[in-house]
Amino acid sequence: MNFSHYSDRPVALAVDLVNTLQTGEDTIGEPAQFEAFINEYRDMWEDVATLPEPAELGKVHRLRESLRSVFESPDHATASDRINKILNDYGAIPRVSVHNGEPHLHFEPAQGNLICWLGAITAMGLATVLIEHGMERFGVCNAGDCEDVFVDSSRNRSRLHCSTTCSTREAVASYRRRQAE
Ligand SMILES: [Zn+2]
Ligand SMILES: [Zn+2]
Repeated sequence: MNFSHYSDRPVALAVDLVNTLQTGEDTIGEPAQFEAFINEYRDMWEDVATLPEPAELGKVHRLRESLRSVFESPDHATASDRINKILNDYGAIPRVSVHNGEPHLHFEPAQGNLICWLGAITAMGLATVLIEHGMERFGVCNAGDCEDVFVDSSRNRSRLHCSTTCSTREAVASYRRRQAE
């Protein structure tokens, strides 16, 4: 049963947003870049929010930092505190919405601020992962030169890397190290 929108796509959006900053390179450093990024998810927000002012981009960057801190949490209590702080900071409030014909839950404030929507929906997505699957599912890439986060959906929670690109590169590197010894 799908009670709300708070399942796979909000989690993917949270991961994608955190990973827009990679070793100093910011792919949403300019308002136009953020607009292109969030337009990929337009179907999720166009009925309930409008694009922020360019001057508000710093708030998106702060949200991105807060979301990363959830992935880097050392334990469940810390992860819960960090998620709750995001829900609070972005004004998440549960309400029933019928904008697409069927009653379902929304958590963003009703004023239509896209940054609040973004904070509420990504934090709710991560809350769902934490509650249903545990924080062991939150991961940061193990590759030396990659800081990307991911949600581990492997059966035995054994995932170490953000992508097959990183796991392949690391496997090649460790093979070469063994050969050199
Ligand atoms: Zn809705
Ligand atoms: Zn990686």
